[in-house]
Amino acid sequence: MDLIVTAKQLFTPLERIEHPLVFVEDGKIVEVVSREAREASRGTRLLDFGDACLAPGFIDVHVHGGGGHDVMEADPSGLNAVEQLLHRHGVTSYLPTTITAPLDETLKAVERLANAIESAGPSKDKAPRARPVGIHLEGPFISHIRRGVHPPENILPPTVETFQKLWEASRGCVKLITIAPEVEGARAVIAEATARGVCVSMGHSDADLKAAQDGVSAGARHATHTFNAMRPLNHRDPGILAVVLMDDRVSAEIIVDGIHVDPVIVQLFLRAKGAEGAVLVTDGTAATGMPNGHYRLGSLDVEVNDGKCTSDGKLAGSVLTMDKAVQNVMKFADCDLQNAVRLATLNPARTAGVAPQNGTITVGAFADMVALSPRGEVRTTIVRGEVA
Ligand SMILES: [Zn+2]
Repeated sequence: MDLIVTAKQLFTPLERIEHPLVFVEDGKIVEVVSREAREASRGTRLLDFGDACLAPGFIDVHVHGGGGHDVMEADPSGLNAVEQLLHRHGVTSYLPTTITAPLDETLKAVERLANAIESAGPSKDKAPRARPVGIHLEGPFISHIRRGVHPPENILPPTVETFQKLWEASRGCVKLITIAPEVEGARAVIAEATARGVCVSMGHSDADLKAAQDGVSAGARHATHTFNAMRPLNHRDPGILAVVLMDDRVSAEIIVDGIHVDPVIVQLFLRAKGAEGAVLVTDGTAATGMPNGHYRLGSLDVEVNDGKCTSDGKLAGSVLTMDKAVQNVMKFADCDLQNAVRLATLNPARTAGVAPQNGTITVGAFADMVALSPRGEVRTTIVRGEVA
């Protein structure tokens, strides 16, 4: 045994254990019990987080960058800086996320990210950091009408051939792909990606009700930053949002920074998706963790002013962090800590297809944990059994 961790309580996150003991060996969880059930073995390092709550490390499936670095351009040391920043905010796994860019640039970025994912072993001499566990392709198969800040000249019509190029460049590391289901050719790509085990997310989309339903029939199971860059809900023209909010097969992201979506809409969203279907994401950019100024988002210049990221006056990602998203969802939607944790751990892990090794505190899972205050503030982050 390498380490035993204890605290006031633990969320697996589906279950709650009072006075837990978590036994860690070789970076994995080997036993989870209550202190009443057995004693901590002598001679093993015991970490006691007092009145804190232990939760699985957060998983962010939508991250463009942080600490001044964009994941599409970052060299290994830049990526490391992004991952150290994520780690400080409780994130232990993430999906580096591309934005729409010239195809050859995206292919190169995806190759570099695949290298990072394949070599994401122990931190060794490096500072503790979150691990990339897959790639999220946001674009290029999106709608011109709902492109947000994605450059229009780089948006591509969805074809299985182009998807295949991206898939091969990623060496199978793509876990999530954002597609507008209404665009011609989208359904064939949705079916192909789904057949390869990629989760297809509907987003940057102007789909009407029928097109969104067809997208789900073809295999789509997730929605990218719900409400943002999406055809709005209309009572006579319900559109994609009716499907995203009501279809229980579809999980859905939301950016809870108080800027992208009004707090009241966060409440509505949670009533619709429940604790099972909601996924907290940051959509964090290079500007996250940095002072006001100008930063990169893919090939774009983004201006950050007091927590708001814009490019040409349009919202362009965020500077939100996952711990803040957890705290905000508790505040905005009267969500308790256990459910807020679920939205940031198990749900995104399921979406990315990396549960239960990631996103749960169970035997056999990676020893990725975060010790939280009752209000959701990060006290310590543990990645693969390494304590900062
Ligand atoms: Zn994004």
